Amino acid sequence: MRKFSVKIRITVWLTALTALLSVLLLSFLLSISNAVIYQSAASQLSYVLRQNLTHVNFEKGKLELEEAFRFYQNGVSTLVYNDSKALLAGQIPVSYNIEEAFENGRIRTVSSGDDTYLILDFRLPSGWEDGIWLRGLMEFSGSKSTAQNLLYSAMIALPAFVILAAAGGYRILQTAFSPLEQITKTAESINEAKDLSRRIALTPGGDEFSRLAAVFDALLERLERSFEAEKQFTSDASHELRTPVSIIKSACEYSLKYDETRKEQEETIHMISRQAEKMSEIISQLLNITRLEQETEHLLLEPVDMGELLKSLCEEQPYDPSRLTLNIKDSVTAPANPLLLSRLVQNLIDNAFKYGRPDGHVQISLIRSGNETIIAVQDDGPGIPPEEQEKIWQRFYQSDSSRSGQNGAGLGLPMVKQIARLHGGYMTLESTAESGSIFAFHLPKKN
Ligand code: ADP
Repeated sequence: MRKFSVKIRITVWLTALTALLSVLLLSFLLSISNAVIYQSAASQLSYVLRQNLTHVNFEKGKLELEEAFRFYQNGVSTLVYNDSKALLAGQIPVSYNIEEAFENGRIRTVSSGDDTYLILDFRLPSGWEDGIWLRGLMEFSGSKSTAQNLLYSAMIALPAFVILAAAGGYRILQTAFSPLEQITKTAESINEAKDLSRRIALTPGGDEFSRLAAVFDALLERLERSFEAEKQFTSDASHELRTPVSIIKSACEYSLKYDETRKEQEETIHMISRQAEKMSEIISQLLNITRLEQETEHLLLEPVDMGELLKSLCEEQPYDPSRLTLNIKDSVTAPANPLLLSRLVQNLIDNAFKYGRPDGHVQISLIRSGNETIIAVQDDGPGIPPEEQEKIWQRFYQSDSSRSGQNGAGLGLPMVKQIARLHGGYMTLESTAESGSIFAFHLPKKN
């Protein structure tokens, strides 16, 4: 069975409730108004009849009505009967044509044709056996016509009211639900176009939908980053692994065909092993970068004593300690991820030794400048030509000299840059042929 939308279901429910409430309210009003009208008519009848009673004299079979006696007053007709129920004075209303037994002092309602009457009788005794009856009659169409009027107005007003409630309710729900439709449309368009760069981008507001949209956008952002990183990994890996794989393949074919001595075979195996090592290095570095790229904006940071971190890092270095100096100008504790920060500095130290002079010197400095913490790694090597200083931050970029001389994949500095970004910092490079290179990580203080 096809399900109706939430909007329609809520509207129908609220409209039905409104209609039911209106009907209940109407019947309550009707019964109240009936009671009130009856009460006021009954007291009017009683009042007029009692008044007339004081203006009647009946003694020794002689009836005397004073001047103040009113046969008709405020809708009440007063009739005077003797004990044999014969009318002595007064005029029966034309529409009243029923025989109603006399009953002293009790108000009754009687129907005569289409009309309803209130009746009240009082007996005025004279002597032991004789007496007269005063009968008050009051047409009681008031309540009926009020009820009818109410009913007619309700029959017109109620459907109009219900339609208004339904239309208004639906409109409000439609406006309230429109962000949900936007979310659905965006999700559909992402699904159809396979385009993860789309966002819902609702105007930020405090309601549930805006928060849902913001969470959804953040989720998309993460998904997109993840997808991009994965795509990049696949294409980089297949591109970069092609060369060592083809070297290994042709080395194997060559060895099978031409290597005759054990020495020749060993040489080939060494070459294959070097290429396999390179491949494994490329894969692990690529994986590191991919993981960093998939990292959320909010990396887990903790207060790190930078001086201590650099000291222990220097102690672990495999290089000649006389070629490495640590210069801590200020003691600084800043929010960082110690593992990633160590990886950043280690990469810079490795490069400084790899690309510096063979017997050169490397200096690591910790400085506080303005609101920044700076970790700088300086070498006294040949420097990097100005035209390459931008390029070295790109993936797989290696200068021609290093490509031939050093083993590496051109992935170290992109990873360094990525770690700096994840910390909310950035990298700078100063390099000249005369004084060597200074790679510096700048970490601004967060407010
Ligand atoms: P890899 O070291 O694997 O080649 P990197 O991304 O770490 O990759 O470095 C990219 C290139 O930047 C290197 O090939 C090298 O040419 C240059 N480079 C990096 N550090 C230095 C340095 N301290 N001095 C001179 N050149 C450097």
